[in-house]
Amino acid sequence: MGYTNSPLVDHVHISPNRTPGRVCIDTITIHCVVGQCSVETLGNVFAPTSKRASSNYGIGYDGRVGMYVEEKDRSWCTSSTANDNRAITIEVASNTTEPLAVRQAAYDKLILLVADICRRNGIKKLVWSTDKNTRVNHLNGCNMTVHRDYANKSCPGTWLYDRMGQIAAAVNAKLAPDPWGKDGDEWRYRSPASGEYVADMWVESERGIWYYIGADGIMVHSGLTHVHACRGIYRDGRDAGVFPAGWYYFRDDNENGLLGECRSGEVTVTASTAPQVQAVNKAVFNPKHDGRFGQCLTVNGRPAEDVLGLEK
Ligand SMILES: [Zn+2]
Repeated sequence: MGYTNSPLVDHVHISPNRTPGRVCIDTITIHCVVGQCSVETLGNVFAPTSKRASSNYGIGYDGRVGMYVEEKDRSWCTSSTANDNRAITIEVASNTTEPLAVRQAAYDKLILLVADICRRNGIKKLVWSTDKNTRVNHLNGCNMTVHRDYANKSCPGTWLYDRMGQIAAAVNAKLAPDPWGKDGDEWRYRSPASGEYVADMWVESERGIWYYIGADGIMVHSGLTHVHACRGIYRDGRDAGVFPAGWYYFRDDNENGLLGECRSGEVTVTASTAPQVQAVNKAVFNPKHDGRFGQCLTVNGRPAEDVLGLEK
């Protein structure tokens, strides 16, 4: 496959301490520098041939990223040719004494860099294990290794070692595809479980706001729309209950102006998605479902179904 390099790189200083080519990229190995250095300083450390060491990337104390060995080549980083032939190695600036803690800016960039490496190299999920045998033999999908597996070293230090599971979870959250997608100006929603676009159902956003995806698979973002009875399912699989059939009002005034929020109470409606009705003056909504939804009861004092010409 064709290898690429990270667009997150701020500084390039290719080290002579490398071997051209590699076997593959299917592993991430995170190291600690044992020093709160910049990416320039780390580049100078890896510059002399006498050093006999390098890494693919380094992250400075300030969160900037250095590249010292391109991803297509093997770095000399983990005391293991076999590991470095398949791993992208990353040195992270750290304190000089245990637990060899890393600053927040460097940690935050580490998550972004590892997610970028995984995305570009087809690593769909990071898997960590606290068991050395599982790591070095890549059992159960484990694809994170540490320097101490291959040499009598404490690297990556207690601070990073204890956070490897957390790092994997943070990276995996970034690798998960966004269920929301744009289709022209319209939003669609892909079920995280099935990967298929959904239609005629309620979905809940990350921020806990519910949206309705119409029968045509397009999110309803303003006006009145008729919702068929459907069952809402929370992302964790919990049943959110049945939303009864009826007319619902969606407003279009939230911060990005694209997503709609259903609300209850008496509201003035100036446009409608109902084909029979272009303008409605006042509609009364019945609060439902913990007050988060409103079902349209009347429009201009008449039953909504009469006014809107809804089939009975
Ligand atoms: Zn190391």
